[in-house]
Amino acid sequence: MGTRRGRYLALAALALVGSCTKVPITGRPQYNLIPDSVMSSLGKSSYADALAGQEIARKTEDAALLHQVGTQISQVANRPDYAWKTTLIESEEVNAWCLPGGYIGFYTGILPVLRHEAGMAFVLGHEVGHAIARHGAERLTQQLTLFGGLAGLTLLLDEESTLDKGQRSAVVAAVGLGAELGVLLPFSRTHESEADVIGLMYMARAGYPPAESIPLWDRMSRAAGGSRVPVFLSTHPSDEKRQDHLREWMPQATKRYERHQRSYDTTAPRW
Ligand SMILES: [Zn+2]
Repeated sequence: MGTRRGRYLALAALALVGSCTKVPITGRPQYNLIPDSVMSSLGKSSYADALAGQEIARKTEDAALLHQVGTQISQVANRPDYAWKTTLIESEEVNAWCLPGGYIGFYTGILPVLRHEAGMAFVLGHEVGHAIARHGAERLTQQLTLFGGLAGLTLLLDEESTLDKGQRSAVVAAVGLGAELGVLLPFSRTHESEADVIGLMYMARAGYPPAESIPLWDRMSRAAGGSRVPVFLSTHPSDEKRQDHLREWMPQATKRYERHQRSYDTTAPRW
């Protein structure tokens, strides 16, 4: 894509082809204009930005467990083309995310709320669910329409990009780092419910008891009652609604869990 005209033609072709797929697990039909390769490279660069200047927990038992459970969940997600990196960040913040392309960040502040390995598996499943269901691409598509649709996408793909600060913020927020960089762009209720269902199924298939997802939201709720409202929670729909939704999918998840159950107690308190 050398010339500006060439880029527009390439993008016009892309718009015609697009990609009409179904979200794994939920089967929701999805039309996405932005290719996975573009989202993954945005995820990769955003990951570097998010980790820069942070205190990283390296070679700790908790970091090793995050890597281990993250690997189990990513195997179930069945996207070997994703990078699947996990980083544990030393921070009081109660937060966790997975950027497009499988770039995962957890904050040590969320560990007491997770309580045990099974809790970690659910939140990992939920965050990975956002990436697998390509919610960032859907959100970015909406954001791009705010500043010129295909022209905006051209700017994004242009190495001599002249995006202004506001436009950059919108792009960054869309890929999932909004809270981190001070621009909060919550996932929609549809996306949150979808990530919950995917997370529930993934944890069950990885051998963790799906019923643990329900009390986890109670703990998250209590954590929000403190002086410091967790960013993680503030961007998510009401706990009761999401618990009801999880219960609807519980029988299916339980069947999967029974086939894959681990030989040790994954709910032994750890944090
Ligand atoms: Zn979420």
